[in-house]
Amino acid sequence: MKFCYCPECKTLHPRNWYSREKCEVCNSECTTIEVRRSIYGLSMYFVSIVAMILILLYVGHFQMEVSVFDFMSSLSSDVVVAGIFGSIGLAFALQYMDLRRASNEAERIVRNMEGRN
Ligand SMILES: [Zn+2]
Repeated sequence: MKFCYCPECKTLHPRNWYSREKCEVCNSECTTIEVRRSIYGLSMYFVSIVAMILILLYVGHFQMEVSVFDFMSSLSSDVVVAGIFGSIGLAFALQYMDLRRASNEAERIVRNMEGRN
């Protein structure tokens, strides 16, 4: 993931698609810092996919009663709903951990950069 470091006002924040190369605080050019996604980030994608599949199965079987999803009959809807909320909650937690780890990494890179100057 990409971070934006502003040498003018010394702020570091995740780079958004809309802010591009500009600092959100003072609008001056910022330095892009790229941090590799961690296992948390990868797990987050995986868990999100699981949540989406559960939602699809839930809607398909319990709401639309599509016959392809009849294998879901052995599960109660409560279990599926709990699974959906559980996986969404887990995805949020993993995203938070990934962002925190990435921020720490970006800060470390900035400290190294500043140290060189
Ligand atoms: Zn700035």
